[in-house]
Amino acid sequence: MGEFGEVLGGGFGESCGWGWWTLRANDEARGTLSAVSLKASSEQIAHSAPLRRVAIVPVRSGALPSGGAEAVAEAHGHALIVGEGAEAAAAGLAGVATDVRVWETSGFAPALWSAVLAPLVADEAVVILPASPDGRDLAPRLAAHLGRPLRAGALEVRDDLVMCAVHGGSAMARHLVHGAIVVTLQPGVTGIGAHAHGPMPTVEHLAIDVAAQSEIATSLDAEVVTVHAPDVTTMDLAEAPRILGGGAGLESAHQFEQLGDVAAALGASMGATRVITDRGWVPHERQIGTTGVVVDPGLYLAFGISGAVQHTAGLGDPDHIISVNVDPHCPMTAMADLAVVADANETLGELAALLSQLNPSDDVEHSATQSKRDTADQSKRDTADQSKRDTADQSKRDTADQSAQ
Ligand SMILES: Cc1cc2nc3c(=O)[nH]c(=O)nc-3n(C[C@H](O)[C@H](O)[C@H](O)COP(=O)(O)OP(=O)(O)OC[C@H]3O[C@@H](n4cnc5c(N)ncnc54)[C@H](O)[C@@H]3O)c2cc1C
Repeated sequence: MGEFGEVLGGGFGESCGWGWWTLRANDEARGTLSAVSLKASSEQIAHSAPLRRVAIVPVRSGALPSGGAEAVAEAHGHALIVGEGAEAAAAGLAGVATDVRVWETSGFAPALWSAVLAPLVADEAVVILPASPDGRDLAPRLAAHLGRPLRAGALEVRDDLVMCAVHGGSAMARHLVHGAIVVTLQPGVTGIGAHAHGPMPTVEHLAIDVAAQSEIATSLDAEVVTVHAPDVTTMDLAEAPRILGGGAGLESAHQFEQLGDVAAALGASMGATRVITDRGWVPHERQIGTTGVVVDPGLYLAFGISGAVQHTAGLGDPDHIISVNVDPHCPMTAMADLAVVADANETLGELAALLSQLNPSDDVEHSATQSKRDTADQSKRDTADQSKRDTADQSKRDTADQSAQ
């Protein structure tokens, strides 16, 4: 608690059954008072057996969303997977899930889904969804149907309290649990433990007749006209499968334009440290870390980033980290699978040059084809003009001949 310092105030909300507070790190008197309150409240809500939990994971195209497996791990392996390709997505939960209910349904209809799912999880005290875009959309509607409070962006879910980062990660709120709740879990924080690649869970297929709920679907769910593939340059960083991050080792705003171009050429998104977003070289929504976005990419390529804890705490658990840094001993390089001890600006420049050699194609080929097309068009225009001119001349000659006669 001390690490985040600042006191924001606190209290216990009788009506909605929760309480929160934070402590000023150097304020011992208030700290003691709050600690006493915590102890008393925890005793009041002591549970003899662990609370029943379930994770609801909305999926698209058979793929688990960011943080999906973590939500299931946090729900002690009990999962309800919903969406198109739900069964295929469930296969990705081997070793994490123990039992999975699957509702195979097309499209994403959070109003309809929450109405259908609420009765199915009404007996579960803690319903956990990943804080993925679809999870964040579904969770509040589900909480409203169940008549429960929602704890959004949790970092830890215990039976007696839920810990959430607030104010952009500069403080933590501890919400006491006094009854059934719905929680969204921040991806990339809790991990899934050492169970990956374990046995397949048991899978039960749910046959759900949504006809009774169709009125809700048509009245409250948005009509999906078209779904665009995500653009790596603008997509939510939290969802990006590959990220190229830049830090103070990159020396100017120009390098960040280049970093964005290289990232796009590699099908990756661009991120940055707070030093860079504070300079205004990159917008704040691209900042990775405790006061930025928490990400969970498969690959993270760090250019000139020292690896301060406020940055790496937002990195999730990438499968591969590559660090380009002149300091072979900095934390980012120590975390990396591959460390390139070199100037990050030069390395980025080399990479950009290499990529344009590998794909000279687009631009060069485009200009060549265009130029051929332009030449052909011009030649057609020239021929047409010439032919018009010839016709006009002939016509003049004919008229002159006529008058002479
Ligand atoms: C409350 C709080 C919240 C914060 N939240 C965040 C957050 O959300 N996200 C975040 O990122 N930070 C955050 N910070 C800031 C954080 O503590 C660090 O200051 C920041 O992450 C450092 O960014 P950096 O690695 O770009 O810069 P530096 O720490 O200055 O590191 C620069 C690195 O570049 C290397 N380098 C220098 N020149 C070159 C070169 N030519 N080629 C290659 N490498 C080179 C250096 O060796 C060094 O490792 C927060 C701080 C506080 C106090």
